[in-house]
Amino acid sequence: MVWGKILRDFTLKKYECLLQAIKNTNYSTCTVQDFLKFEPEKCVILRHDVDRAVNRNLEMAKLEHGYGINSTYYFRHVEETFKPEIIRQMAEMGHEIGFHYEVMDKANGDPKKAIEIFKEELEDLRKVTENVTEIKTVCMHGNPLKSWSNRDLWQEYDFKDFGIMGEPYLSIDYNKVLYLTDTGRTWADLNIRVKDTIERAGLNAACSDLKTIYSTYDVIQLIRSEKISRICLLVHPNRWCDDFGGWTKELAFQNMKNVGKAGIVWYRNRVQKSRNYGV
Ligand SMILES: [Zn+2]
Repeated sequence: MVWGKILRDFTLKKYECLLQAIKNTNYSTCTVQDFLKFEPEKCVILRHDVDRAVNRNLEMAKLEHGYGINSTYYFRHVEETFKPEIIRQMAEMGHEIGFHYEVMDKANGDPKKAIEIFKEELEDLRKVTENVTEIKTVCMHGNPLKSWSNRDLWQEYDFKDFGIMGEPYLSIDYNKVLYLTDTGRTWADLNIRVKDTIERAGLNAACSDLKTIYSTYDVIQLIRSEKISRICLLVHPNRWCDDFGGWTKELAFQNMKNVGKAGIVWYRNRVQKSRNYGV
């Protein structure tokens, strides 16, 4: 199928090309934790959210491991992804394991309840990785349907009190790090990133090439150019697969979600505007 060959992006094979491209440059790769600790001058931070399809995450982890690359995997505490053996296996490869929390959602927006759930679930994850690695970073899960954001928890509490050193949405300065996400199965569309949106005006102004980034090939070209010193790639492994049946299902699923998200962005903008006019 010719169009399949031309248009298929977001496959493990494509991800491997991305890893090879990084390896052929002067960039180092790092986990979120290592970035916060050492702040390397020239690096690609590799971050993954384990939202579902845990086996696809394991495949990606093995692929990276084969290239001697360590990245960060944020695990949700839900049945589909909280698989102790797989978590341990990935930790043993040297990947950073972090907690992908959604406790404000679970507590229906009540921070007091949410922090209790946070403590319990973090403890569960720490038990799983005991003797292998420490959980030092956490990252919120986005839920575009809710009026709150999971990171709102940190307006009232401090994650440092729980032995956590950082949260990628709060601890990384995205004026100094270019943030690229595969959210929506494209690297380009700012419009659909409801809760993954990060202000990166400074970087955008500095490099007009960024406006043309759409496919993984474009990301590879940007990396090859070595124009930007620090890049953070958020990759959701559940969206990347080689098997064609799974791939088309992901595409259909994502297109449906994008239409939904665009509607939410439009609605929020309208609400926001009417609020602003009210002031
Ligand atoms: Zn998530």
